[in-house]
Amino acid sequence: AKTQQRSGHFYFTRSMGVEIRERVRMMHALRSAFSKHELFLMYQPQMDLTTRRPVGAEALLRWRTADGKFVSPDRFIPIAEYSGLIIDIGEWVLRTACAELVRLRAAGHEDFTMSVNVSQVQFRHPQFLPMLRRALQDTGAPPHFLELEITESMAMEEPDLLAQMLAQVKETGVHIAIDDFGTGFSSLSHLQRLRVDRLKIDRAFVTEITGSSRGSSIAEMVIQLGRNLGLSIVAEGVEDERQAQVLYHLGCPLAQGFLFARPMAAGELEEWLRGEEA
Ligand code: C2E
Ligand code: CA
Ligand code: CA
Ligand code: CA
Repeated sequence: AKTQQRSGHFYFTRSMGVEIRERVRMMHALRSAFSKHELFLMYQPQMDLTTRRPVGAEALLRWRTADGKFVSPDRFIPIAEYSGLIIDIGEWVLRTACAELVRLRAAGHEDFTMSVNVSQVQFRHPQFLPMLRRALQDTGAPPHFLELEITESMAMEEPDLLAQMLAQVKETGVHIAIDDFGTGFSSLSHLQRLRVDRLKIDRAFVTEITGSSRGSSIAEMVIQLGRNLGLSIVAEGVEDERQAQVLYHLGCPLAQGFLFARPMAAGELEEWLRGEEA
């Protein structure tokens, strides 16, 4: 069925009804999954491209339903945002990742960093800062080893408000990375004003660097921009050695992707790290 539009009014069609019912169903399932502790985190290592050693990890949320199926965060995060569930889920993600950071330090990984994705709905919530401070306090996580990843699209909206928020986050000592960098249109002055710590080059631009023969790539421009601003840079979605080589030669210090490691459960990560150090 097609959507009919007459003089600015939209009429609901049957397929739209199905779509909405599906979302509502998923929202209930997600709420129940969260309360039954069916959500969990996986951790994907981030590597130093010079030493080829792990320097940190990104926490990634997972949902396995009762019948064993995985739902992608790309599907359920928007529903968590839309329903407001992201506030509680996001707090749990932050606390769980902080606790894992503390555990890793106790196991001897003292310079290891932990990156946590923060949704804009969560970030804009009036209780975000108190929530962050409480999580740090309760878990004993060292703020300088924690990083929040916010997306570039979020960085472009309401720049004044965002700059103010980021300044307050920085006061806690927690670092900020701009995720999926290159997909939006942040200006140089804008970036400078936000005083972020790190740029994450989106996977789409990493894939591109060995694909085409064009002289200069977006990845290359992002690396130059980051270096000029004195920011840390990490390339995401690095899947093969050629990409890693090109990134290294372009001056990108850090990388994350299937070439090095897939996201893994907390216990697996600790074991993997022991193997990398041997
Ligand atoms: P993202 O933050 O850009 O995360 C990177 C995604 O790329 C992850 O997918 C990761 O598993 C995947 N990936 C890593 N290395 C490779 C690679 O070499 N090749 C390919 N093809 N993919 C790779 P995932 O875990 O499905 O997450 C998808 C998105 O969901 C994330 O994108 C992030 O925006 C969101 N997300 C995940 N966890 C959380 C969370 O705890 N909170 C919030 N707000 N969003 C989250
Ligand atoms: Ca991310
Ligand atoms: Ca990303
Ligand atoms: Ca992405």
